[in-house]
Amino acid sequence: MRIKLTFDVEFPSNPKIQNNQLEQILKILEANKITATFFIEGRWAQANIEQVAQIHDLGHVLGNHTFHHCQCINLTPFGLYRELTKTDRILTSITGKRGPHPFRLPYGSGHKSLYVKLMLKMLGFKHTHWDIDSFDWRDDAAQIIRNLETQIIDFKGKEPVVLFHSWPKGTLAGLNYLIENVEVEEVQSVRIHKND
Ligand SMILES: [Zn+2]
Repeated sequence: MRIKLTFDVEFPSNPKIQNNQLEQILKILEANKITATFFIEGRWAQANIEQVAQIHDLGHVLGNHTFHHCQCINLTPFGLYRELTKTDRILTSITGKRGPHPFRLPYGSGHKSLYVKLMLKMLGFKHTHWDIDSFDWRDDAAQIIRNLETQIIDFKGKEPVVLFHSWPKGTLAGLNYLIENVEVEEVQSVRIHKND
């Protein structure tokens, strides 16, 4: 079964959480020869530029997750433009690609809104939603695994997009579960956009 692995990389929404599992995530992916797409909050990228370059150097795809991880549905057209272009410029400085890079709306907010969809289209971006939410931010390993286990059954043969985050501890449990239990050698992410 092929799975499209995606990781949202951002400052945790809960300020009490100081975790950053990115190093471990990258190690697990590298050890299993898996590539994924990482949607990165622009201001996180600005503060952690070496880690973003590392993600790129390991062969993963870099994606845009707005600059301030905001609810895009509440932004003015100019606000949305700034959130997207500012982040894309940072990604371009690393990937060398002109962009637009793959994109994901924070919280998926506005993915059904005509306004957001039209704005994204005008700016050349396309939101990448997910089929399976790992709920990794709940940090309860057993629950995350149970949740993945039940959801994945519905997507046999369909290459579902799975949503993880870079910062919860639960991410590692979910990721290891997928690698170890979903027909190991066939678990590999596939790129989301043809031209990535
Ligand atoms: Zn996010």
